[in-house]
Amino acid sequence: MKISRMDLADTGSPMGLVTKILSIEKELPIPVPIEELAKQLDIEKIAPLETEGFEGGLVTDDARSTGFILVNRAAPSGRRRFTIGHELGHFLIVSHKPVEPGKFLCSRADMAKWSADQGDRYARMEAEANEFSGLLLIPPPALRKFIPKGDPTLAHIPLIAKHFDVSKEAAARAYARYHPEHLAIVVIKDGIVRRAHKGPTFPWISASYGKPVPRASSFYAKDLRQRAASELSPIIPEHWVDLKEGQRAELFEQVYPQQDGYALLMLWLEIEETEEADDDRTSAQRFKDQQGRWR
Ligand SMILES: [Zn+2]
Repeated sequence: MKISRMDLADTGSPMGLVTKILSIEKELPIPVPIEELAKQLDIEKIAPLETEGFEGGLVTDDARSTGFILVNRAAPSGRRRFTIGHELGHFLIVSHKPVEPGKFLCSRADMAKWSADQGDRYARMEAEANEFSGLLLIPPPALRKFIPKGDPTLAHIPLIAKHFDVSKEAAARAYARYHPEHLAIVVIKDGIVRRAHKGPTFPWISASYGKPVPRASSFYAKDLRQRAASELSPIIPEHWVDLKEGQRAELFEQVYPQQDGYALLMLWLEIEETEEADDDRTSAQRFKDQQGRWR
């Protein structure tokens, strides 16, 4: 590797940093060698974290002259790699300041923060470190090449997780964001909606976090002991999303049970083109195309 921290000196955003890293390390292999990359960027050592209840840590100073990354070695490989990427993010984003001077300590809940209310500086830092790690471990150009053609399905998630050596949730988040269809993937634990990862064109999800999955969902018809993705099934969009006024769409759900009471639920929204839309197919042709996708 030829990158050095000097190359990143003028960059402070997760996307800016990852873009720069990828532009210099054009031959970066997949899975991304995250430990090697961290060391190349002045992380002196990666050591086991012994503090109970935390996933990762970073010991450094304000000037970031050097850094030690601490990681929960008991976590599975994908999560461990994500944690190293997250701590490397804190190290490279110089505006990040730890609560306790010189030491960042990050919990599993921190690793699940993907957005932050305005003014919540701590949550924003965690969300940025996650954003950095997610982009670095699953570089969008490599992911786009890897997503199989055709209809979206949660069956792709374990393939992506394996290919990039990341957790299934990190894979699901990247899939929802970079798949060309309008997708969201909802993370459910014990029947409760915990969070959702969605693509840029997916509308606002109206189902509340911390509340049970909407009653009408096919989630309740799925045998959760079966660790396989269900068939797609239609649901009235308003159970999950707020559509724009006058917008018409079809929504499909797919459920994929995971370990420890977790499940992933994919929402695939097909927004109906309006007559004014730039689409010169006749309605009969559109119908035929629509049917063709299901064969
Ligand atoms: Zn953190």
